[in-house]
Amino acid sequence: MVKKSKLAKETSANETVSNNLRSQLRFSSETGEIWLHEHRMLLVHADSHAKLRRELIESLGISRARGMIMRIGYATGINDCELTHINRNWTNDHESFMAGPLLFTLEGNAKTSIPKLEINRKMGKFYVEALLENSWESQAYLRHYGESTEGVCWYLHGYSSGYCSAFMGKPILCKEIKCFAAGGKHCYLVGKPVEEWDDSSDYSLMMNQESIAEQLIGLQNEVVHLRSAISEKKMPSYVVGNSPAFLAAYDLLMQAVDSQITVLLLGETGVGKEVFARTLHEKGARCKESFIAINCAAIPHDLVESELFGVEKGAFTGALASRPGRFERANGGTLFLDEVGDLPLSAQAKLLRVLQEGEVERLGGTKTHKVNVRLVTATNIDLRQLVENGKFRSDLYYRLNALQIHIPPLRT
Ligand SMILES: [Zn+2]
Repeated sequence: MVKKSKLAKETSANETVSNNLRSQLRFSSETGEIWLHEHRMLLVHADSHAKLRRELIESLGISRARGMIMRIGYATGINDCELTHINRNWTNDHESFMAGPLLFTLEGNAKTSIPKLEINRKMGKFYVEALLENSWESQAYLRHYGESTEGVCWYLHGYSSGYCSAFMGKPILCKEIKCFAAGGKHCYLVGKPVEEWDDSSDYSLMMNQESIAEQLIGLQNEVVHLRSAISEKKMPSYVVGNSPAFLAAYDLLMQAVDSQITVLLLGETGVGKEVFARTLHEKGARCKESFIAINCAAIPHDLVESELFGVEKGAFTGALASRPGRFERANGGTLFLDEVGDLPLSAQAKLLRVLQEGEVERLGGTKTHKVNVRLVTATNIDLRQLVENGKFRSDLYYRLNALQIHIPPLRT
């Protein structure tokens, strides 16, 4: 009797397994199904798969596409391990393991041989090297993208990791250390337990499905949020002007929106000081409350105080009823004093007190009313000059001048 060599024994064992797997394959044209044992299979064009792969790369980027294809491979490897080991009594670990590479070959992925396999399931020991010829993945990659600088058989990479992990019942990572698409003669894989690799990040990638949809929804929400934040600061249509100086003034105004800083608007008559004041109000936190505007130059000096601070009935001839002033009416909101330089000195003193104490006392009254008002003032005359001439209180000027915005005329 001729003693068979180890290789010849292995070859014949593989043929038996391979034939066994083939015999499990059933085409059922009546039902439109293909079965491999109890698993429904599909016969698809490798080229369509290559196109799908290309589309994934182009729409998701190479690293996301790689992760996704590896995960599909990993899941398939687990399925195939289950398929090849259901109700089968393999004589040993080696023979049992070989069913996977043979099925992988039968499925048309690549001609797979296993030059090295050290396996002991009881001890959890595992080491494999796999040689893959005619890998369809590497061929498809070469056709679409040309030569790569690294392994491109991501499905194979995932599949072998999934198969070996399911087979061993512990995490095994296979890495493609040579690839036909990266100048190798063939593709070559090494597989060993995850903890034996220095870098096992690919295994985490195979485990962790990243939800691109969730990421997209998250990004979409962020865009909506940012857009609305931008449009809040955007110039309303009624603000006209697009010169650099005008835009700079508007920008400065927007910086004051979220604060309570007192703004002094400077500029010629007709540059839209009230529009600026109203915009400051409408863009800010007080927008739901009143915006009250008053032109100090348009009110007779003897009436300006009652207009601003209110009056109690009988405080003076003509004060027939008690009424609140503009400060009280603007409570919670914004009060805009235009032509503030026209305020008489007595009114300036009262205004300063209101600003310092946060309360107003109506003319002829004894009661004080708390007021919370954002004050915006405007002038077209040089307040500093008025201060020098003794016509405007310097303490009030500094109080009002916390932030000065020059609005340029539209002609600039
Ligand atoms: Zn490869």
